[in-house]
Amino acid sequence: MTALKQAQRSGRPEQQSVAEVVAGIIDDVRRRGDEAVRACSEKFDSWSPPSFRLSGDEVERIVARVPETVIDDIRFVQKQVRGFAERQRESMTDIEVETLPGVRLGHRHIPVAAAGAYVPGGRYPLVASAHMTVVTAKVAGVSRVAACSPPIRGVVPDATVAALHLAGADEIYLLGGVQAIAALALGTESIPRVDMLAGPGNAYVAEAKRQLFGEVGIDLFAGPTEILVLADETADPFVVAVDLLSQAEHGPDSPAVLITTSRPLAEQVLRHIDEILPGMPTRDMAEPAWRDHGQVHVVSSADEMFALADEFASEHVEVLTATPRDALDRMRNYGALFLGEGTCVSYGDKVIGTNHVLPTRGAARYTGGLWVGKYLKTVTYQEVLDKRASAELGRICGRASRVELFEGHARSGDVRAAKYAGDRLSW
Ligand code: NAD
Repeated sequence: MTALKQAQRSGRPEQQSVAEVVAGIIDDVRRRGDEAVRACSEKFDSWSPPSFRLSGDEVERIVARVPETVIDDIRFVQKQVRGFAERQRESMTDIEVETLPGVRLGHRHIPVAAAGAYVPGGRYPLVASAHMTVVTAKVAGVSRVAACSPPIRGVVPDATVAALHLAGADEIYLLGGVQAIAALALGTESIPRVDMLAGPGNAYVAEAKRQLFGEVGIDLFAGPTEILVLADETADPFVVAVDLLSQAEHGPDSPAVLITTSRPLAEQVLRHIDEILPGMPTRDMAEPAWRDHGQVHVVSSADEMFALADEFASEHVEVLTATPRDALDRMRNYGALFLGEGTCVSYGDKVIGTNHVLPTRGAARYTGGLWVGKYLKTVTYQEVLDKRASAELGRICGRASRVELFEGHARSGDVRAAKYAGDRLSW
């Protein structure tokens, strides 16, 4: 493997200070509730409206001023997200099986009662995150969805509010950052707590979810976005360059990585990036992201390409090769795959219907992205209808429990064996 471009900085330069800031805000919200939420919102977002929660009338007024084409596009995308999520929900069937005569075991998928949906808005109004978090929660059957999104530099994000409303959010708060996450997780005087939190966010938001996990459920670690492009000599270097920069513009901490079997392609991509970057309206984000976290690796075979890709365990992986579907069998670690030139990460982010809340910073080693299943608890139940079966299980339970020195457990088995099969109690 040859690196034509290396990252200049690690992916988590200020992780420790982020963790300290986040812990301080969570502690403050825990102690002072609404007062702390307001103080943090003033401090970090210069935002302190009379109420963070939008009333029904306010929501209606905001939705009315969103252009019709924007509303139409929101409806289109929500339909795609809903359609795919509904098929995924259908695939999660409840089961009940008879594992021994008269012994029934089952599982059911029960939605959490209340979910918090975080829609980022520090730099850009991430309207699409409203579809991903709220539509999906509603398809899962969550009855209360409380959504939070910050103002964009003091301005109400109209399209985001419209998307949250059309998606079916039950409560909409114009509130962002750690204070929003902590309020939803812990509850305050004016914001009732939720059972689980979902949605992407910057390093502060992701760290807040990590620190609060346990007190509240979380979907996954969905921090600053990442793109990995796998390409061979058949890929169009201009398309590769454009797609790498499409994700770099998310923020200065967003890695964009190319792994290719073709050195000429890698060199052309680097030239195109140098040409495109200076003219990008979002250059202030994309340029530092590419400079500090951009990487280009030339490998000698497809095997090496897929093995290295699995090590990255990237959030998004575009496969621009002659046979892109190979990746389905040859890769294990990714949030979402984009197979062939006909699609791209931006389609996944904005329009196509798969969920864009995806694992970052290696979390793809152990989890996929947000989907209906994340809002559902898979819970089990059991029933023994046959007394002989219960007596037999009771005898084995007695023996197995005593191996573990659990006399109390053993006796629950003993009494059933005695009651249903006449065994003598020896205690
Ligand atoms: P954001 O809403 O996540 O964060 C904005 C908030 O951060 C502000 O409201 C503010 O309260 C807080 N904040 C900012 N600086 C702070 C500081 N110094 N101390 C404490 N709090 C501070 O919006 P954003 O910043 O635009 O970030 C959005 C992120 O979401 C990007 O990094 C993007 O890559 C990521 N994203 C990830 C996915 C995914 O699925 N992984 C999807 C979409 C977006």
